[in-house]
Amino acid sequence: MENELFEAARGAMAKAHAPYSKFPVGAAILAEDGKIYTGANIENLSFPEGWCAETTAISHMVMAGQSKIVEVAVIAEKLALCPPCGGCRQRLAEFSGASTRIFLCDETGVKKTLSMSDLLPHSFETEVFG
Ligand SMILES: [Zn+2]
Repeated sequence: MENELFEAARGAMAKAHAPYSKFPVGAAILAEDGKIYTGANIENLSFPEGWCAETTAISHMVMAGQSKIVEVAVIAEKLALCPPCGGCRQRLAEFSGASTRIFLCDETGVKKTLSMSDLLPHSFETEVFG
């Protein structure tokens, strides 16, 4: 499945709205339903209002009624490996388990595989809202 996710993430990257940074990013999530949900970064002239590819992909997954991430692929054409930013790590952790696999890709395929706990050890967790 990692190659399918890579291809989906690369396809999503082509849809990025990144006219300011010129740094397109794509993400693809395999959810528990077996479907792939994709996203690209979407920038805004008011810079802080833009958001990341992973966030777009999570939005698509949630709006399809899914809440469990099985695997994730991330790609940025200008980086050999593009790890999710700090905010996206916490967003991904919301819907992932410790062993959820994160594939970091370049233009040719998956180059590094991390677990969610590798990517975000000691993520924010609490029973307060449980
Ligand atoms: Zn991010």
